[in-house]
Amino acid sequence: MPAPARPFHLYNTLARRKEELKPLAPPEVTIYSCGPTVYRYAHVGNLRTYLFADLLCRTLEYLGYRTRQVMNITDVGHLTEDDVDRGEDKMLVSARLEQKRPEEIAAHYTAAFRDDIARVNIRPAAAFPHATEYIPRMLEIIERLVERGHAYAVENGNVYYRISSFPAYGKLSRNSLDRLLTGSRGEPDPRKENPGDFTLWKHAGDRRLQAWDSRWGRGFPGWHIECSAMSTALLGERFDIHTGGADNVFPHHEAEIAQSEGAFGHRVVGYWMHGDHLLLAGTRMAKSAGNFFRITELADQGHDPLAFRYLALQARYRTKLNFSPEALTGADRALRQLRERVAEWSASEAPAAGAPEAAARFAERFTTAIADDLDLPSAMALVSELLRSDLPAAERARLLLDFDRVLGLDLGREAGQTLPPGAAELLQRRERARAERDFAASDRLRDELAAAGVVVTDTPEGQRWRVTAPGPD
Ligand code: AMP
Ligand code: ZN
Repeated sequence: MPAPARPFHLYNTLARRKEELKPLAPPEVTIYSCGPTVYRYAHVGNLRTYLFADLLCRTLEYLGYRTRQVMNITDVGHLTEDDVDRGEDKMLVSARLEQKRPEEIAAHYTAAFRDDIARVNIRPAAAFPHATEYIPRMLEIIERLVERGHAYAVENGNVYYRISSFPAYGKLSRNSLDRLLTGSRGEPDPRKENPGDFTLWKHAGDRRLQAWDSRWGRGFPGWHIECSAMSTALLGERFDIHTGGADNVFPHHEAEIAQSEGAFGHRVVGYWMHGDHLLLAGTRMAKSAGNFFRITELADQGHDPLAFRYLALQARYRTKLNFSPEALTGADRALRQLRERVAEWSASEAPAAGAPEAAARFAERFTTAIADDLDLPSAMALVSELLRSDLPAAERARLLLDFDRVLGLDLGREAGQTLPPGAAELLQRRERARAERDFAASDRLRDELAAAGVVVTDTPEGQRWRVTAPGPD
């Protein structure tokens, strides 16, 4: 029988305090993570939020849980209330500017997203549902909300959530009702019962490219309903953890609670976790403001993409983190040195009688740090302490490789080796397959990697890889 999972404490935005995780069906933990909108490239700020969710999954697995993570791909709209009122849809604006169909835009940016997360060792979720494939499910939930008095249609075919029907509206963001009401700028639809009522379904004009038939006529979904539909379709009407960025708390997650609980009549999400923002020169990195970097740009400047991951590990996920090229250069150097040490120490003889107790204490402290709401800065301080410790070299290397199951810094990578295109994603899929004990998939992925010139070996610390064939460059 496997050892029971270790306790994990997490800060629950809804409870406003740290709580011990009590999964619904241990050792499995079900996780829904708000994912990308695929009408533009992700920037490293977005990646910080996905990285936090990845660190959560890796930590839980390190502690002995199994994770099932779902991350949505928003390939329709991403309509905030403002956009709805202005009748502008970013997906369609991109389609117009790039002279492509919305599906082509979405496919292009979805593929770019998958490549980008692989570059920073964010393992793919078990499922990446596309919003456009869940329209019937969204309509089903909207109909339920109408039946239960939580939503109403107006004469042109728009359907709104009636926030006055859900007394707990505002409990996540602690927004007072009058602030909730002023949440939407622009000219509100005068047919709304209440200016704070948010859009569930929006009537489509004649020229709209993405629209679906419904009992209220042709239209398309609001952004928030997408996540209620996909989370409950894939994880059930109750699941453990929901993650997102700090800006998702209101209105997105506040609305999701009102929708999901309104439709199903009970609590759906056990714990809400939010990662804070990445800043550039003191302001939030944002697509719209144009102050952002893509991970590929940083790589083109000569940085190891994982240096960004190293940098992100220096701050707790709930604090803001300032990004700067200088800090990234420092992270690059530190990461390279760390890998060199591991390579050197791995080659040394394993001690006959090592220092098992001292090593166990390090492992214990590492576990304690990450189990405390993902305290990765403390875990990284421990890595530094381990580097300077007098543990036998082979023991230090072994511990670092073990910690790397969570850190994901490729500490076992041989110097100078780079993966051929696509191999990083295959490695991550294989790692996940192994974590899920899907050995058939893991073997198949090993063959695919071998065909791409990457030999994988499994060690107690996880898979290690070596490039055998020279890459295309
Ligand atoms: P978007 O594609 O704009 O919906 O953003 C995708 C995810 O990235 C959301 O969960 C946001 O909360 C998150 N996000 C956006 N900007 C930042 C930032 N500067 N730092 C961290 N996360 C961000
Ligand atoms: Zn969402």
